[in-house]
Amino acid sequence: MSDRNVFEDAVTRVERIGLDAGVAPETVDALRQPGALLTADLAVRMDDGSTRHFVAYRCRYNDALGPTKGGIRFHPDVTREEVMALALWMTIKCAVVGLPYGGGKGGVAVDPKGLSRLELERLSRAYMRAMADFVGPDTDIPAPDVYTNARIMGWMADEYEAIHRKKTPAVITGKPILLGGSLGRDEATGRGAFVVIQEYARRVGLEPENTRVAVQGFGNAGYHVARLLQEAGYRIVAVSDSKGGVYADEGFDIESLWEHKQSAGKVEGVYCTGSVCEVVEHRKISNEELLELEVDLLVPAALEGVITTENAGRIRAPLIAEVANGPITAEADSQMRERHITVLPDVLTNAGGVTVSYFEWSQNRQGYAWTLEEVRERLERVLTRAFDGLWHLHQTEKVSIRDAAYAMALRRIGEAIEAEGTRDYFSGD
Ligand code: GLU
Repeated sequence: MSDRNVFEDAVTRVERIGLDAGVAPETVDALRQPGALLTADLAVRMDDGSTRHFVAYRCRYNDALGPTKGGIRFHPDVTREEVMALALWMTIKCAVVGLPYGGGKGGVAVDPKGLSRLELERLSRAYMRAMADFVGPDTDIPAPDVYTNARIMGWMADEYEAIHRKKTPAVITGKPILLGGSLGRDEATGRGAFVVIQEYARRVGLEPENTRVAVQGFGNAGYHVARLLQEAGYRIVAVSDSKGGVYADEGFDIESLWEHKQSAGKVEGVYCTGSVCEVVEHRKISNEELLELEVDLLVPAALEGVITTENAGRIRAPLIAEVANGPITAEADSQMRERHITVLPDVLTNAGGVTVSYFEWSQNRQGYAWTLEEVRERLERVLTRAFDGLWHLHQTEKVSIRDAAYAMALRRIGEAIEAEGTRDYFSGD
């Protein structure tokens, strides 16, 4: 669906913004390719006794600012290029919010919905067995991503600990609470996006009660951001998941919609099975239709490459908050700029997840658990500060918020590379 190879697209963006922002060529050079990439074949025993093979990846993209950090995705469309692009985006994201991390990512090309629970557990453990010397609390720290969750992180942590023969909760984040997970990690991506949207709304005078929202993707992040927006007075008029979507002019009650999805497994068609049916009239829409709705705020919260040059001209929302990673291709992004559509970029908008992952890792290393209030307060502080910095750059340097975010990240990474290195010595300064 994307306009070009997703990885080339990601590198081109770094090159262009690096050049415009006057970043040292060495920094851009360092980000043209991943630092390390491990590919593995996972042989997994199925419940019927047969063995299936799955391709798995883990990429440590750049560690100038700290150990690499990023999720593991289980999805049939996972490719090496996609994992590398996602790892590069993590590198930028961690630098934007000022976390002491580089960027990494992992993935397995698999349809997890087609596996039994035991098969999924064997696959998760096989992944960690393959990666056990490549990840670690001081080298590379995985977390959940598309179609992975706390339970899977728990299996992986347990496998890592069995291999290394010691308790090492800080090797992975997004774990179940009893295994060292952090309170507030499950809602963190959605809450972070909510904080960013509110910061933006405050600056431009956007009023929640006059803001109609469409959310594409009703997984963990999509649900939490929709819930928090609705609580703050925004009207969520459309929601979709991979199976289709629903639209209602007067807005949905997100909690009921979520409960229906949990019990029926999809949004489309099930909304009307319970009591909410009497309260809200709705019509079915496709994912494509949702993106093109005339709303005030569009929230793509599913996968990358959903807004391309093919549909960019038909996007009618004046504001897009990227909760998914990379939902707008680079070429489509230029069209957004030309059409004066404001984009709250993924590397800021969805950074709440990795920020609370950082809190989880810190708590694990401290051996001390924070309260939910503490986690939420700190998350808000981190993202508000990041937003302030980017808004300032956006205003003073007259660049898009995405360009401001990349410029900020590239400068930080550049400074770290320079501080580590011997450039001064060789340049004779
Ligand atoms: N997968 C999430 C992301 O794309 C979270 C990564 C993390 O917590 O390390 O930001």
